[in-house]
Amino acid sequence: MSRFWSKTVQELTPYVPGEQPKLTQLIKLNTNESPYGPSPKAIAAISQANSELLRLYPDPNSDALKQCIARNYHLQANQVFVGNGSDEVLAHVFLGLLKHDKAILFPDITYSFYPVYCKLYGIDFETVPLNAEFAIDIKTYLGKANGGIIFPNPNAPTGRALALSDIRELLEHNTESVVVVDEAYVDFGTESASTLINQYHNLLVSHTLSKSRALAGLRVGYAMGHADLIAGLERVKNSFNSYPIDRLAMAGAIAAIDDQKHLETISSAVIKSREALIADLNQLGFETIPSQANFIFTCHPKHDAGQLAQALRERHIIVRHFKQTRIDQYLRITIGTDEQCAALVKALQAILA
Ligand code: PMP
Repeated sequence: MSRFWSKTVQELTPYVPGEQPKLTQLIKLNTNESPYGPSPKAIAAISQANSELLRLYPDPNSDALKQCIARNYHLQANQVFVGNGSDEVLAHVFLGLLKHDKAILFPDITYSFYPVYCKLYGIDFETVPLNAEFAIDIKTYLGKANGGIIFPNPNAPTGRALALSDIRELLEHNTESVVVVDEAYVDFGTESASTLINQYHNLLVSHTLSKSRALAGLRVGYAMGHADLIAGLERVKNSFNSYPIDRLAMAGAIAAIDDQKHLETISSAVIKSREALIADLNQLGFETIPSQANFIFTCHPKHDAGQLAQALRERHIIVRHFKQTRIDQYLRITIGTDEQCAALVKALQAILA
């Protein structure tokens, strides 16, 4: 605390990202990164940077990247917004599209950055409880006056996904505010709501290159929606940072998004490992929520989750444990390679013995 801090800063409770330990030799299953590398085409594109290119500012509008995304999702370039990771995109969404007089709605168990943005921008919010199976029940959102609705699909940290028909039902009923579907994990088995964008002008869908495209280190995210929503986000971005996408990120992101084959290969590998890991953990007595993401959310009825996380850490395996009501007996475990998953199962066998 310093007397020079503004009142706003004094009152903030910042988001705490999963740890990025400096140690090597760790099995890192705590921040939902991909265990595989990005498209080799992305690496090749980034490697082409030279001093002449880097001397100059990048395109402030990231037009080539927007065109690439638009092409891949059958949209127009003015229906695409890009930013420095989807966290930055979401920050602009909260300020630009979700800050109204009425409270916004999101699930009680969800991405823990949402309440942080609300606090930062002075946005009222109301949390809507997940049902007993930890699923979002769309009916609980219907008929509630709101300044906007946001949820991840699949949800984080539960991994559970909603069907496109549920999202459509919500959009049919919630016509007076923006509905944001945060699809950070969509490529691991969920149908994207991006196909509904031309039908529902209050729908915004956000994506990231950090998970399924294995480019968490590049920091690129994007949002897709009606051109008027995107124009609002551009106003915020142009009042904040003219050049959020640097030249390396732009080159890498375009090559990665165009390499659909690589995306499919590494996503199906993750899905296959996920199902095998769920089966192995359930053999050990874990109860695991069905997941459509690159992580699972699991608990053991006879063992404290915090202690399990600690015991794994002592064996150099890092998973995520949230000390939050309703979920403090769960572990969120990122799907690693088959070797990493096998090491996790072996370590848990030893801990539970
Ligand atoms: N949304 C959700 C649900 C997430 O879990 C994350 C990753 N922490 C993000 C958005 C942000 O990802 P990034 O900033 O790396 O694009």
